[in-house]
Amino acid sequence: MKHHVLKKLEWLSQYGKDDQNGITRLVYTDAWHQAQLALKMWLEEEGFSIEIDAVGNLLASIRGSSVPDEIVLTGSHLDSVVSGGIYDGQYGIIGGALAIISLLKKYGPPKKTLQVAAFAEEEGSRFPYAMWGSRNMFGQAKLKDVEGITDADGISLKDAMRKLGYSGKQEPKQNVTAFIELHIEQGSVLETENKEIGVVHSIVGQRRFLVTVLGETNHAGTTPMSYRRDAMKAASMIISRILTLADEAGDPLVATVGKLELEPNISNVVPGKATFTLDIRHTHQYALENMTRLAATKIHSIANQQKVDVQIEPWFTSEPVSMDEKIIKLLSESCERKEIPYKLMHSGAAHDAQVVAPVVPTAMIFVPSQSGISHSPLEYTTEFALEKGIEVLTEALHQLAY
Ligand SMILES: [Zn+2]
Repeated sequence: MKHHVLKKLEWLSQYGKDDQNGITRLVYTDAWHQAQLALKMWLEEEGFSIEIDAVGNLLASIRGSSVPDEIVLTGSHLDSVVSGGIYDGQYGIIGGALAIISLLKKYGPPKKTLQVAAFAEEEGSRFPYAMWGSRNMFGQAKLKDVEGITDADGISLKDAMRKLGYSGKQEPKQNVTAFIELHIEQGSVLETENKEIGVVHSIVGQRRFLVTVLGETNHAGTTPMSYRRDAMKAASMIISRILTLADEAGDPLVATVGKLELEPNISNVVPGKATFTLDIRHTHQYALENMTRLAATKIHSIANQQKVDVQIEPWFTSEPVSMDEKIIKLLSESCERKEIPYKLMHSGAAHDAQVVAPVVPTAMIFVPSQSGISHSPLEYTTEFALEKGIEVLTEALHQLAY
């Protein structure tokens, strides 16, 4: 069955369409609110009953005929990054809704309640607090955790939320028995390996640091090399060493230095200060911590040897999360039956699924992203692949809820 998913994605993309031809739909803005209302109207027309919870997560349900209190959940996030693509997040919402609609048409009402969630906030693009929607819904973040968090204009998350009538206070959702998030891969592994579906077995944990190297600013001509305490030299040695260690460790470990700043950043001055970010990810707790420790040891030993001071500040931590074995099996078997080339893989990016997974049996389905591009108006997935993803999701929801 063809779901015409692309038409629906384009329809929802009008809310937040920006002049780069991307979507800018930051949480609790007008564009975001309009998208939520449009989604609500569409899903009501399709026979879903709608609940909007205390932080603005939209939950659209088809009530179960015999076990209505058990919910099989699908969905993803409604918010976007600044100038994102039309697939990130909203594909999981629309794809989830289309899967449920096709099940209803084919089999009538489910035994368990089928529900699609449009999580209010995942990206952390307006407020520096990612996955607020799902975290609040599943009891992993309360209003006090976002106290004092503001956007670039100084508007607090709490005020932005209250302006739309959300109190931010609710009991954690209890009766969800399974969650499957359909999402674009946002990487190029599936495309490279010619697979149509990714069945995610785990989501990486992350450790992010800000590293400051303090040396001494000096004249580039009159300071002999042996006199120098060059912050850039030390920083570049550190960076090179850590990235080489990551190369040696190999998949699934990744380490990235994405930002580097020098002071005074002048061509004929020896830099006195270098600041860089370090982002380390792995699917296993032990390996993640091991690499983090190793990186810290290298940073300190190179700093010592180069006679510079160094500070390492952690600013973001998340733990690796495993997906549910049973749902992974169900998804893999479904691909095998349908002869869809698939790959068991990990997710190197964060998703709402990692918030839900510790409390509910959870899995993710990936579809290929062309050239791995995401968080950009150039983000692209073929309609064929989008439809395949929905097909696999539909079968899984059928097995879980009927
Ligand atoms: Zn996303």
